[in-house]
Amino acid sequence: MIFRQLYEPESSTYTYLFADPQSRQAVLLDPVVETVERDLAVLRELELTLACTLDTHVHADHITSACRLRSLTGCKVVYPAADDLPCADVGVSEDQPLHVGGLVFQPLFTPGHTDSHHSYLVEAPGVLRVFTGDALLIDGCGRTDFQNGDAQTLYRSVTEKIFSLPGDTLVYPAHDYNHRHVSSVAQERERNPRLGAGQTLGGFVQIMADLNLPYPKKMDIAVPANRLCGDCGEDAERALRALDSKSFQGAPAGPPAGASPPNPSGAF
Ligand code: FE
Repeated sequence: MIFRQLYEPESSTYTYLFADPQSRQAVLLDPVVETVERDLAVLRELELTLACTLDTHVHADHITSACRLRSLTGCKVVYPAADDLPCADVGVSEDQPLHVGGLVFQPLFTPGHTDSHHSYLVEAPGVLRVFTGDALLIDGCGRTDFQNGDAQTLYRSVTEKIFSLPGDTLVYPAHDYNHRHVSSVAQERERNPRLGAGQTLGGFVQIMADLNLPYPKKMDIAVPANRLCGDCGEDAERALRALDSKSFQGAPAGPPAGASPPNPSGAF
């Protein structure tokens, strides 16, 4: 398996690139709109075809590049089926893994950060990796105070789903704010300050309740955009094309009524 860990510094997000060396088909996990050009350059450099994007959840801190990459490359957009996003081409769940070439992405339902968050288990010869999104971070975890987050639910997701994996399973999170790259199930089980070392449910719930975190600065823009797979204004483009095909004379001044609003981030 071809594998790269890529980094977006503004939101400290890790995007992961996977590819099947035989078919050259690639997957980008949690791609970020600011780094579309970088990601396309890596794909070109490695002579890969992007089969699909995949997201762990609807993010609140950055905008996914899923629909942008679909527009640019023709790839599919894959999300947890539980997110129920009309913009997604394929939904995955624990019963519906994602197959790309010889690669298998086994979804693990790990709610608590959001109510439909999934982690992905990927096995390569001799190496088991789990991509934990914002459910489990290195020495930490995602917050549980918005997007239907719930500390009790996250505790169960991490302790029952992720900590029950073999100890040498490599843990790759969606973020790290301290330049760490990878951990293992054994390490997090033993020393994660919030969830490790036999932390109790009550202890964890108290830690999360006491965090008093600031409101995420991009949340009001990122969540609506990400519920449109990054909001490429495709509905608007489609509506405009429909008007053109009816021999519409003159360019309309703005998107037609009922079309998606323009991307408020101005990112594309
Ligand atoms: Fe998140």
